[in-house]
Amino acid sequence: MDIQDVIIIGGGPVGLFGATMARLHGMTTTVIESLPELGGQLYALYPEKPIFDVAGFYGITGKDLALRLVEQAEHFAPDFVVGESIETIARLDNAGDSYYEVTTSGGVHRSRVLLVTVGIGAFVPRKLPAEGADGFENRGVYYLMPSLDYFRGKRVLVVGGGDTALDWTLAIAPRASHLTLIHRRDQFRGQEESIRLIHESPDISVKTPYELLRVEGSQHVEAVVVKNAATGEEETWPMDDIVGGLGFLPSLGPVKSWGLNLEGNTIVVDPATMMTSLPGVFAAGDVVQYPGKVKLIATGFGEIGIAIAKIRSYLDPTKKGLPHSTNLKGIPRP
Ligand SMILES: Cc1cc2nc3c(=O)[nH]c(=O)nc-3n(C[C@H](O)[C@H](O)[C@H](O)COP(=O)(O)OP(=O)(O)OC[C@H]3O[C@@H](n4cnc5c(N)ncnc54)[C@H](O)[C@@H]3O)c2cc1C
Repeated sequence: MDIQDVIIIGGGPVGLFGATMARLHGMTTTVIESLPELGGQLYALYPEKPIFDVAGFYGITGKDLALRLVEQAEHFAPDFVVGESIETIARLDNAGDSYYEVTTSGGVHRSRVLLVTVGIGAFVPRKLPAEGADGFENRGVYYLMPSLDYFRGKRVLVVGGGDTALDWTLAIAPRASHLTLIHRRDQFRGQEESIRLIHESPDISVKTPYELLRVEGSQHVEAVVVKNAATGEEETWPMDDIVGGLGFLPSLGPVKSWGLNLEGNTIVVDPATMMTSLPGVFAAGDVVQYPGKVKLIATGFGEIGIAIAKIRSYLDPTKKGLPHSTNLKGIPRP
């Protein structure tokens, strides 16, 4: 079995840019992603939201940025393995040649270096604690969004008080025939600008403090039973769809058992090199922790630059730093 230079664990924006950089600098590279689609949070959590703080774009939706990152990486032809989650890693030694063997849900892969870009891990949504909600999942109850156009002309209920709920409220409201946002407290916890826009929108009814008690329907959601937490009174509202906006549980899953130095659900790295506590294992993006860490796509891209420079000299100690891409020879032209 071939031993690659680098296996990138996680095909979110940071892992995808990692694949471009690793291939650009001549490393054989495989990206392994547990979901069926590449793109990480951009593709799975907010495909249709515009992002305004990625360099080079005034505004670009999560899905479009994910597709651009895939397209950029594809020019340099890394191997992509999708729909396989990495379960275990083991460091092996063959006559002084050390490498990692990673076992996924579908097979075994080998590389000299691992670059861990698993972000927030598996996307495990906090489920709605309401009677009947489980039975209507994907039949009117959603946690990961179908296309926003799905909500066109529908009566939609969004539940939650943090950024996830506020973001979805603002994204869905222009399509829905009416949108109601409920939260069990009077105060929202999200960004002030989102809260202001929601309160100003004529298309959104904000109901607090309200709790979702029960979901009713036959084949699909037809109504919700809610409780006014101030008066204790129950109300039934006709409803087509419900969006659970209670956030996501960080779940590093198998990564926790790999022997890395962790702080909660993050991997501690040296920000000067992006090295973890294990030899030959680097990490970047939302999953890493160091003093001053900011969880943004832009910072993740910067961390990739540092990691790839260090990986290059780790694989070949005669090589230092990173040459400018404009000076590289033999790059396929777009
Ligand atoms: C609603 C919302 C809005 C946001 N808006 C912005 C914004 O405007 N600007 C900004 O800069 N950032 C924004 N962010 C944050 C941004 O999306 C993250 O910083 C970015 O996605 C981190 O990228 P990543 O590649 O590190 O991780 P992720 O995007 O989380 O990707 C990690 C990938 O690893 C995969 N994975 C996990 N475990 C395994 C495993 N064991 N084996 C294989 N694959 C695995 C996951 O399936 C996932 O695809 C927003 C986030 C959200 C939720």
